[in-house]
Amino acid sequence: MKFADLHLHTQFSDGTFTPEELVLHAQKGGLACIALTDHDTVEGCPRAAAACAAVSMEFIPGAELTAEYQDTEVHILGYFLDTHNEVLLAKIAKFQTVRQNRIREMVAALNKLGISLKAEAVFELANCQSPGRPHVARTLVKEKLVGSLDEAFERFLKKGRPAWVPKAKMSALESIQLIHQAGGMAVMAHPGLNRTDEIIPDLVAAGMDGIECFHTKHSTSTSERYLEIADKHHLLVTGGSDCHGYSKGRPLIGTVRLPYEHVQQLAAARQKLLAAQ
Ligand code: AMP
Ligand code: ZN
Ligand code: FE
Ligand code: FE
Repeated sequence: MKFADLHLHTQFSDGTFTPEELVLHAQKGGLACIALTDHDTVEGCPRAAAACAAVSMEFIPGAELTAEYQDTEVHILGYFLDTHNEVLLAKIAKFQTVRQNRIREMVAALNKLGISLKAEAVFELANCQSPGRPHVARTLVKEKLVGSLDEAFERFLKKGRPAWVPKAKMSALESIQLIHQAGGMAVMAHPGLNRTDEIIPDLVAAGMDGIECFHTKHSTSTSERYLEIADKHHLLVTGGSDCHGYSKGRPLIGTVRLPYEHVQQLAAARQKLLAAQ
């Protein structure tokens, strides 16, 4: 049996592994195929592709787009993206700027609370175009302003906490179109986390191709529920660990193992899309 992990982050967003380290861990985990899905960027894909090619592992270039539908945040995974697509690159560049400005706003809110953090320190630690709350949390820990990442989120960064800043997002319908015009397949990420079941039919009508049934934070019964929903709406089934690096001492990559037949179905559906374009 061959297995894949189709939800992974690197240092190009808020993961802690380089693309090369990620591929090394994928190899150790015995994976036949991985997809890189950094938040709102495809910058890590060329390096991950090269590292995969060197060990004869299959690679799918992807991204996890932060989107919203009717005021609900929803993450849309794009697979088999053309990472040189100009429309895609222009759009995600805009949202990277949104992310960078949001870091400044979060730091300003922390400063108001008497926490002496500088935005530049966060940017230096993040060292990427697509920074997020985890980078603020890590900088707070590094500068000993909080004791742990959990404390940073609990006290300051979680939704509703004093340094939480909402993020402007593209509409989910727009994200699906953006992925399609870049030759990719659009898949709803971790539906069990966002409680977005009621919007699935609308997104299916808008052309969404699949849902991520298997995810680190989905229980067995949650995964089964989404397999039924996928079946009902004739959606592709995907899955991945959502690895951001080490978690409780071990890399999450490979802990969710998607049977390879789902990768074949995803690839076949993508060929159909290309033929129709
Ligand atoms: P952002 O995109 O900047 O809103 O940050 C979202 C990311 O922060 C998620 O992908 C998670 O990796 C991380 N995150 C969100 N909530 C928490 C939390 N309570 N504790 C630790 N990490 C979190
Ligand atoms: Zn993340
Ligand atoms: Fe996500
Ligand atoms: Fe993710």
